[in-house]
Amino acid sequence: MKEKNTSRAFDRKYNYNGTDLGVTYNAQVSLFKVWSPKAVNVSLILYSAGNGDNKLEEIPMEKCSKGIWKVSVLRDLKGIYYTYEIDNGSKKQEVMDPYAKACGVNGKRAMVIDLEETNPEGWETHKRPITTEPTDAIIYELHVRDMSVDLNSNIEHRGKFLAFTETDTKSEEGETTGLAHIKELGITHIQLMPIYDYLTVDESKEDFEEYNWGYDPLNYNIPEGSYSTDPFHGEVRIKELKQAIMSIHENGLGVIMDVVYNHTAQSEGSFLNVLAPNYYYRTKKQGKFFNGSACGNEIASERFMVRKMLIESIVYWAKEYKIDGFRFDLMGVLDIETMNLIYQELRKVNPNIILYGEGWAGGACGLEEAKRALKVNAPLLNHVGVFSDDLRDGVRGDVFEEAEKGFISGGIDTEESIKFGVIASTKHPQINYSKVNYSDAPYAKYPSQTINYVSAHDNLTLWDKIEATCGDEQVSLEEKIKMQKLANAIVLTSQGVPFIHAGAEFARTKYGDENSYKSSDQINKLDWKRKHEFKDVFNYYKGLIKLRKQHPAFRMTTSREISKNLTFLKMPDLNMVGYTLKNHAGGDEWAEIVVLLNGNEKNQIVALPDEEWNIVVDGKQAGIESIGKVDGNKVEIEGRTAMVLVKA
Ligand code: CA
Repeated sequence: MKEKNTSRAFDRKYNYNGTDLGVTYNAQVSLFKVWSPKAVNVSLILYSAGNGDNKLEEIPMEKCSKGIWKVSVLRDLKGIYYTYEIDNGSKKQEVMDPYAKACGVNGKRAMVIDLEETNPEGWETHKRPITTEPTDAIIYELHVRDMSVDLNSNIEHRGKFLAFTETDTKSEEGETTGLAHIKELGITHIQLMPIYDYLTVDESKEDFEEYNWGYDPLNYNIPEGSYSTDPFHGEVRIKELKQAIMSIHENGLGVIMDVVYNHTAQSEGSFLNVLAPNYYYRTKKQGKFFNGSACGNEIASERFMVRKMLIESIVYWAKEYKIDGFRFDLMGVLDIETMNLIYQELRKVNPNIILYGEGWAGGACGLEEAKRALKVNAPLLNHVGVFSDDLRDGVRGDVFEEAEKGFISGGIDTEESIKFGVIASTKHPQINYSKVNYSDAPYAKYPSQTINYVSAHDNLTLWDKIEATCGDEQVSLEEKIKMQKLANAIVLTSQGVPFIHAGAEFARTKYGDENSYKSSDQINKLDWKRKHEFKDVFNYYKGLIKLRKQHPAFRMTTSREISKNLTFLKMPDLNMVGYTLKNHAGGDEWAEIVVLLNGNEKNQIVALPDEEWNIVVDGKQAGIESIGKVDGNKVEIEGRTAMVLVKA
């Protein structure tokens, strides 16, 4: 009987426990080990460069137990590039080492490297900020190239990792740009969109010919070459990414990495599929690939050697690159057990690691729903958060229905979704769960399991969505700015973990492009002149961030605290939400806080639970200082604004 790749017998025979896959280097000897259980012959091929016609040697590898092939080369191979040639009995194919840590241009050949030599000066001892609770994080989602590609950024290393080492840059209008801007805004963590080696951008081309978000993974353990100043020499991209991370850390910010372990760019012809046909991906009976990623395949994370590869990969990034957290793309493709093992292993490296992902898949998967890391299964995940599409679409309107309105634009029946976001999708006696957008029950065991947001790289930017919902109606720029402010005022005052799409703080537009994954820099770039134009929005977001950072009432750490200290108030009209944060919630110095959200166009009078309040946030300004007083027990809140009051 033909042995199936996924059978128990296969597992017993081929599951390999060792942690020495890839190349183990020192100056005397390099040990190569690769897992290819069905290969007939495997050879190591050495090259003097990462591309071109420069083969040095072909060395047959020895077959060992558990499907492992190995060879030791007894000389100093530092700087030498290599591939494996897999002979499956009918043909020979050259592949990358899936455990490779360095590579040549376009990730086609791996490289032997001494990783210590890639450490920038001070790397081992540099200080990184510590966030003890994920709810203390304020996440900013950013694409490496978008930050600096605009000439007006006045950043020298445009589009590169090294742009993050330029810490004092200004636009023509005199506003800070790049990292200086991010620091000024006050967020705590930069979430970098894919920085591992992805396929689509041809690294050998002149700069800026091609653009891609990078959700097309090629080499999981190697940085992307197009962000380096020299993609041909494998050590350069590693060192430059470390320099970027170190600079971000030294400026008081953490780094979260966007990982795409749900699929690879290539399917049948991928090197994983050559090394172990139909093993790494979920397949149907005829060897056809499941496509839960909507990108051609889905990783079979539940299988032993796949799970091992993913766990070792993520632990490697956390250790070698000092990454502070991970965002999992289409996490709903991956299995729950793997996600929990990932947390278990990462917390050994960094007990404060931040983990969250998209709790959905891109299509039908080859693994049952009950076993996958979907939003609905969040209670089965340990210390892994999920994005709240409930709050997102409640605030702005459905991401797939361009013109559909949300709370900020006068949409109807959004109140319970907003309230659900406010309590970070936890259990609370005042929520009517049946009226929440997509969830009919609380899914977060604790607030850090909810990532609250209103825009991200996918779909229309917040500003473009506002434009779309206004349609042909005569809505003034001033009113649109109010919506832009209110949207993230909701995010930044809600419990849970707030997440801001880069540029939302100056009304980022992609000119209506809802899927700009390969659009031009013109569409994707952070356009720094807008910071000056929308300085009012920037200052407002900055003030809200300051408020959140100073006041733990907005970031309680347990579900119980939230239900005990947060009480929703009766509102005078629909499309309004209001609540109090009492009892020095979260250990706050403020005894009682009221948050009011008015999604209506018109002003409203709201009854307050008591008399004498100081206003710290209204539609115009946000911060921690009093900007007005309320003597009585009611207050007028302007249309389409948020208000935060503190008991005097
Ligand atoms: Ca690449």
